[in-house]
Amino acid sequence: MTAPLFDKVAFIGFGLIGSSIARVMQRDGLAGTIVASARTDATLKTVMSLGLADSVTKDPAEAVRDADLVMICTPVSTYGAIAAAIAPALKQDTIVTDVGSVKASAIKAVMPHLPAGVHFVPGHPIAGTENSGPESGFDTLFEGRWFLITPPLGTDQGAIDKVAELWSRAGSNIDYLEPEHHDQVLAITSHLPHLIAYTIVGTATDLEDHIKSEVVKYSASGFRDFTRIAASDPVMWRDIFIENRDAVLEMLGRLSEDLAGLQRAIRVGDGNTLESLFRRTREIRRGVVEAGQHIPPSPDDEKP
Ligand code: NAP
Repeated sequence: MTAPLFDKVAFIGFGLIGSSIARVMQRDGLAGTIVASARTDATLKTVMSLGLADSVTKDPAEAVRDADLVMICTPVSTYGAIAAAIAPALKQDTIVTDVGSVKASAIKAVMPHLPAGVHFVPGHPIAGTENSGPESGFDTLFEGRWFLITPPLGTDQGAIDKVAELWSRAGSNIDYLEPEHHDQVLAITSHLPHLIAYTIVGTATDLEDHIKSEVVKYSASGFRDFTRIAASDPVMWRDIFIENRDAVLEMLGRLSEDLAGLQRAIRVGDGNTLESLFRRTREIRRGVVEAGQHIPPSPDDEKP
């Protein structure tokens, strides 16, 4: 058995993502001790009954005392208050990292609170499911997925390397991006698709009753996939759109223009425009599959 990467790891927030990386730490002996902090007693009780931490506390400052690594795994809007609460209890050289889906605002919320000698290494696992809570995590969630590190200028290289090492052990591929660039890329690859899913499912919900019942009954086609995405955590996604407002609005503007173009093509019967777009997008799908970033269809998946 090799020595743990960290003697004491403190989790602030212990849901799908926090509990999944904690499971990796337990499986591979990467943490000497794991302390979990969350907002509610119910979550902390579940954490203890699943044996996912050595101890639990509702007080984030108590959780981080003497920790070598602090993992913030809560919705992004909570970061400022959490950073303010834990700052006085952090020891020198502690690494604080996170898993939030938006990076520029995460850095803005956390950095001003951290004392000198504490290293903040912001990160984002490009992996997840529509489920929440410690019971929904699993230790293979990050395998073959990207973990993006978006360090502010001047971040301690040793701290970056240790965070990268942790996520490599979880099976992730590591890459480094500027925070603002990360937020733009994710706006189009993740945030907009969720917005579209929320919209389509919302529109279907508002249909007249006689159509609505058939939408649910025959949802084996494309709609079913949208309902899965639109079942994602409402608080987390509320925060993502608010915190990444500028990049999302820019991408939404482009999408609206393209949609208007397609609307026109359909109205005037311009099949060439439609077909050439669909050919281009089919190539993109091939690229995603070749990059190993698709999830193969499960045998239970109904065919459309
Ligand atoms: P989750 O399963 O809903 O868990 C969130 C955790 O945060 C819970 O333990 C919750 O405690 C705690 N929490 C919420 N508000 C808090 C507060 N004010 N103070 C202290 N703890 C608080 O969420 P998740 O899916 O793991 O997401 C966590 C982070 O990962 C988010 O920032 C999200 O953007 C990012 N992320 C998510 C995904 C995904 O697919 N889910 C993918 C990549 C990144 P209680 O249960 O006690 O309320």
